[in-house]
Amino acid sequence: MEDEHQEKEGSQRQTRRSMAATKEEEGTKTQENEIEAIVPLEDRLLFEKVQKTVEESLNKNKPKNLAHGIRLVHFGQYEIDTWYSSPYPSEIRQVGEVYVCEFCLKYMKSATILRRHTEKCPWRHPPGDEIYRKDKLSVFEVDGEISSTYCQNLCLFAKLFLDHKTLYYEVEPFLFYVMTLADCYGCHIVGYFSKEKVSFLNYNVSCILVMPHCMRMGYGKALIEFSYLLSRKEGKVGSPERPLSDLGLISYRSYWKGVLLRHLNSLESGRVSIKELSQKTGIMSNDLISTLQYLGMLKYWKGKHIIIVPQEMRDEYAAKCKANSKFNLLVDESKLIWTPKNYGDNKNKSKVS
Ligand SMILES: [Zn+2]
Repeated sequence: MEDEHQEKEGSQRQTRRSMAATKEEEGTKTQENEIEAIVPLEDRLLFEKVQKTVEESLNKNKPKNLAHGIRLVHFGQYEIDTWYSSPYPSEIRQVGEVYVCEFCLKYMKSATILRRHTEKCPWRHPPGDEIYRKDKLSVFEVDGEISSTYCQNLCLFAKLFLDHKTLYYEVEPFLFYVMTLADCYGCHIVGYFSKEKVSFLNYNVSCILVMPHCMRMGYGKALIEFSYLLSRKEGKVGSPERPLSDLGLISYRSYWKGVLLRHLNSLESGRVSIKELSQKTGIMSNDLISTLQYLGMLKYWKGKHIIIVPQEMRDEYAAKCKANSKFNLLVDESKLIWTPKNYGDNKNKSKVS
């Protein structure tokens, strides 16, 4: 048993396919190529650099983090090495591996039990309302109060890949927006974010996760864009809950930069206020200002703050747009069918997740 684990750990940090190569394999490769074309090279390199740093840090902490936890999760046709521990029941943790139904997210402790479950499981998509669909990409709105078991199982799974998450069981005050990609077998989850039904601080994302086998395909940016789309529909400006993970901060900075450049490039006059930008984009003013400062675009001149977009940044942005017109079209606003619900006062306010 120990040898088996060592063998598995030896090849860790890479998501591996457990099934033989099939036509689906070829299809996935084509998809990956397409995604590579969508995500700018600079962002991919930055992402890979941060991911490497996180993985190195994980390796250093491995004995502490994973000594008694789950090392491997079997999810659909994937075997995924875990990053952090998660409070699955002790009988699962003792085995060191967990088998999860990719549609209903029920967890099991052996391949046999999962196989029997899969034969009977009627689920082919997340519960709740499908509020967005374009081509094969959908988003389901899942209410933590109505589908509490599903949401708890989603949180337990997510904790395997998030270090700061503390919400597992008190899911009722949250909505979960689950993004899926459809094929002939069903709607496969690619990522999700949770959001408090009522947030005094206008947090529009509580927790966000791209499934490990779906990373570097543009879904993180699509999830972030979707969260701001919901804020704009609510007539609000929003911000992700803090603290952000390292990967989360990189993703948000990249997103905020892209949105800023897009809007600043499209300005007809040379004047714009941060408030105006914030209302147009749904991004909180503080996040816009911190991004401008981070990029060195905010200057103080003759008693006023002004935004200066260096020509090379304009050129770089124009080149990105030219290289791939799909870059800004990951979420199509016209495909959202959703009306914000009023969840009333703060009686359901919960702990921060
Ligand atoms: Zn199931």
